[in-house]
Amino acid sequence: MHVGDVAIGGDDFAVMAGPCAVESERQVLDTATSVADSGARILRGGAYKPRSSPYSFQGLGIEGLRILSKAREYTGLKIITEVMSETDVEVVAEFADIMQVGARSMENFSLLEQLGTCGRPVLLKRGMAATLEDLLRSAQFLVECGNPDVMLCERGIRTFETATRNTFDVAAVPLLKTVSCLPVIVDPSHAAGVRVLVPILARAGVVVGADGLLVEVHPQPDKAASDGDQSLTFEQFADMMADLNPYLSLRLAADRMCAAGGPA
Ligand code: PEP
Ligand code: MN
Repeated sequence: MHVGDVAIGGDDFAVMAGPCAVESERQVLDTATSVADSGARILRGGAYKPRSSPYSFQGLGIEGLRILSKAREYTGLKIITEVMSETDVEVVAEFADIMQVGARSMENFSLLEQLGTCGRPVLLKRGMAATLEDLLRSAQFLVECGNPDVMLCERGIRTFETATRNTFDVAAVPLLKTVSCLPVIVDPSHAAGVRVLVPILARAGVVVGADGLLVEVHPQPDKAASDGDQSLTFEQFADMMADLNPYLSLRLAADRMCAAGGPA
């Protein structure tokens, strides 16, 4: 699929990077400039934040969307941001190039229905207790409601293991690519929960055939309003991008295996 001049799927590998939450104009513009220099084509940042505690930062809302749109003007990066409610679809679609459906909203069918006709591609995150079949059913919901431009996102699932924030289901990538034609994006940040594991999980995602990555990056992770522990610094993100280069050809090999009906 195409998001303006950015191709996602097929031979192209798309990196989406930026802060978990939009906190200020300075934070977003600095991050956008830096991740663009390192090779990202899409800027992420949450303006509407699904937080598990009502006392946590909930996002800047429409002001956050305006900041993201300013960053697009300055850097040429496309924008991906989360939409949490069907009543916000219209306003988010006005500012965003890609609509993100968060793990907690994967089965919010009124939201999915509204996104069917929003005119923007959707990145659908796997719910933390969702099977791949559940994820594909939600994707089918979007397609049936009129939106064929759907990307699937593996962001880790809940298991008995607590050493990582979520368990990165690495097999999900080739399995999804074998049974569906939709691009598969890996989010190593929410899978790992700690920044030290993010580059190595990103590498694993590339090798098993992911079509892109969604990665959290922050100018000062220790001061982040959300998900600071798993956010990379600018330098760590640049290093991760350089590290991935030699693995990109393996991604295409994995893609070919999946197209042939699965690993031999
Ligand atoms: C996010 O991308 O910041 C986010 C809230 O992710 P998830 O829905 O995967 O928890
Ligand atoms: Mn986050």
